[in-house]
Amino acid sequence: MIIQKYGGTSVGSPERIKNVVRRVAKYKSLGHQVVVVVSAMSGETNRLIALAKEMQAHPDPRELDMVVSTGEQVTIGLLSMGLMEAGLKAKSYTGAQVRIVTDSAHTKARILSIDEQNIRNDLANDIIVVVAGFQGVDQHGNITTLGRGGSDTTGVAIAAALRADECQIYTDVDGVYTTDPRMVPEARRLKTITFEEMLEMASLGSKVLQLRSVEFAGKYKVKLRVLSSFEEEGEGTLITFEENEKMEQAIISGIAFNRDEAKITVRGVPDRPGIAYQILGPVSEANVDVDMIIQNIGVDGSTDFSFTVHRNEFSKAMDILKNQVQPHVGATNVVGDDKIAKVSVVGVGMRSHVGIASKMFRTLAEEGINIQMISTSEIKISVVIDEKYLELAVRVLHKAFDLDQEPM
Ligand code: ADP
Ligand code: ASP
Ligand code: MG
Repeated sequence: MIIQKYGGTSVGSPERIKNVVRRVAKYKSLGHQVVVVVSAMSGETNRLIALAKEMQAHPDPRELDMVVSTGEQVTIGLLSMGLMEAGLKAKSYTGAQVRIVTDSAHTKARILSIDEQNIRNDLANDIIVVVAGFQGVDQHGNITTLGRGGSDTTGVAIAAALRADECQIYTDVDGVYTTDPRMVPEARRLKTITFEEMLEMASLGSKVLQLRSVEFAGKYKVKLRVLSSFEEEGEGTLITFEENEKMEQAIISGIAFNRDEAKITVRGVPDRPGIAYQILGPVSEANVDVDMIIQNIGVDGSTDFSFTVHRNEFSKAMDILKNQVQPHVGATNVVGDDKIAKVSVVGVGMRSHVGIASKMFRTLAEEGINIQMISTSEIKISVVIDEKYLELAVRVLHKAFDLDQEPM
């Protein structure tokens, strides 16, 4: 049993959907049971979000999900028609029809359970099942969506629920690269990447796979491969669970970057127990995720506290801090900057090598790029810099860590 997920570009026109039909037919003729998960046609989700914003500056989350979930509904119908036209049995399902049950966090819902019975029955009857990615239904029957790029997560979650043999993510590049090949043409496709590295890459901004899809793959040990939908052959990139063979290879596997964050600094907060909680508590209660956090050493009893949030939630977070937190904790002021970017180097090889951080900092210093924040873990180093230096930073780091060269 194989789950194939096709992204927006791969279903961007009737011609391309017919191309998907050909591949699905090929796998079916080889004797596989196939479930296909599809995204909306390329550009469609953006178009729907823009429409919603014409009606409401900050669209109501429930209604926004109602609107954007329609993109995928079009593709499942079209693809099923194409499969029928090719003489195959096919049936489309929205997320709610499968019963992909999520929590009620509209626009970023999490999958709680998947009812696999209908799908299994269809597969047993030789039917190709076509499922709308990116969407589900909460326990009250409201349509929800899983966040941008969420069709990846639908694909992997269905693979996990059905214990499929493989989940294939077909996209517009032929695998996972050392960095986004659209930014660095010298980027190389990786034959394999460890699950842990992929998790870091995705969480640090590499949009080739949605983070939650990688989390699902790890939790349920789904065999996951990223492939091109435009090439007949090609092994793509396999996400592996074994590290051993990788250990002698490159120290750094890839560079991820993220322009979707914004930085907030609360100045002159009293340096006393409980202050981090008083600042971040209200932010988290508003369901705003906080990423990097820095608190300086206190001087004369006060300190500065900085952190990053998603750029979409910047103004919401600024409101909370200015109106609730600042008066409450007695901070001097709150300043924000949404023109920042985060660049990260990722690799399991870091565990057994020293000097990676200093090499990264030296490389950026040589280009005169100022580092505003730093955060590290066992297998990654991230820095926040001025957004205007992002491309330069990624290019010079890619070169400095020899990512354009095949590892020995
Ligand atoms: P889909 O619509 O198929 O889901 P996405 O646009 O979501 O496709 O993801 C594929 C894109 O991810 C590529 O076109 C590429 O620009 C981008 N990308 C970012 N980082 C990487 C990386 N490390 N390797 C490959 N692609 C990457
Ligand atoms: N169509 C949705 C989006 O554009 C989901 C996806 O493509 O994975 O984010
Ligand atoms: Mg995607």
